[in-house]
Amino acid sequence: MKTLKFKNNDEMPAFGLGTWKSEPGEVYEAVRTAIKAGYRHIDCAPAYNNEQEVGQALTDAFAEGDVKREDMWITSKLWNNRHRRDQVVPALKQTLSDLQLDYLDLWIIHWPVVIVDHVQFPSSGEELVSLTETPISETWDGMMECHEKGLARHIGVSNFSILKLRSLMDTAIPPEMNQVEMHPLLQQNELKSYCDENGIYLTAYSPLGSPDRHPSLKAADEPDLLGHPVIRAIAERHAANPGQILIAWALNRGTAVIPKSVNPERIKTNIFADQIQLTPQDMNEISSLDEHYRYVKGQFWALDGSDYTVEELWDE
Ligand code: NAP
Repeated sequence: MKTLKFKNNDEMPAFGLGTWKSEPGEVYEAVRTAIKAGYRHIDCAPAYNNEQEVGQALTDAFAEGDVKREDMWITSKLWNNRHRRDQVVPALKQTLSDLQLDYLDLWIIHWPVVIVDHVQFPSSGEELVSLTETPISETWDGMMECHEKGLARHIGVSNFSILKLRSLMDTAIPPEMNQVEMHPLLQQNELKSYCDENGIYLTAYSPLGSPDRHPSLKAADEPDLLGHPVIRAIAERHAANPGQILIAWALNRGTAVIPKSVNPERIKTNIFADQIQLTPQDMNEISSLDEHYRYVKGQFWALDGSDYTVEELWDE
């Protein structure tokens, strides 16, 4: 299995299981099935409202000898309503308690966006807090404390632009990971070059185009990534399915990738993408598909009455 090696020699399995939208009642089986199928990396977040069930699946997998804790890579994310300096360590402790773990392998800031404490998801601008009031640098101090305390082996960010990454590069512990949307329609070559040059790994989220998002989060004219004719043709050449080709593309590019599935067959077949070697011709054909198209646009943070805009979120 491909891995990403960190400066301290820790190795993160590049392929992992996503858990956003994996409903309570199904995520337990998804995690158990995945571990039995050979997955060694699970991507979690308190915002997915299922960490307790993921934690139970992990605990049972360890107890039943499916895998050892030290052979798993568990990532989770600081939610937007816990960005103040004094909130970060307690937020991680809550996640560890929910996941029934002593430490995380990777703890990342979910979004460069702050929500007031008592709100999970904002419905008006008043429920957002400006980054001038609670700056990322303050949140990062809390993240570094989590690392220093041994609660998180690695720390990083998610949904960060080059500009926002730059603001953290002179800190005592610069981010080691940026988890962003990444797939053939959103290849982010500039961001990837910056990360490659600065020792930051990338994790590709929504690698299949996130087709199970709630309709309210979808644009009317969304491209069908899994149905793209170029991806389908490459899949045929490799006797694979389009999902496997999309996953293989991310792995062949040297990023981590975390496709979500709760379907046992897809969970079992997605992992075989690790063995698909795309040819230079495949990679060339895919490189021409880039449209800088985001499925997860972040427009839900750009609420009237706040100072968040989609342009400033992505700095583009
Ligand atoms: P995704 O992985 O691109 O797509 C998931 C969808 O694809 C589900 O409907 C799944 O259905 C289906 N699927 C899985 N394997 C398939 C295959 N081989 N062929 C066809 N369909 C397949 O979407 P995502 O959940 O948005 O992204 C993946 C993970 O990234 C998330 O779960 C989450 O962990 C992370 N993420 C992070 C952020 C962030 O802000 N940091 C944002 C978005 C996502 P079944 O479940 O029925 O198989």
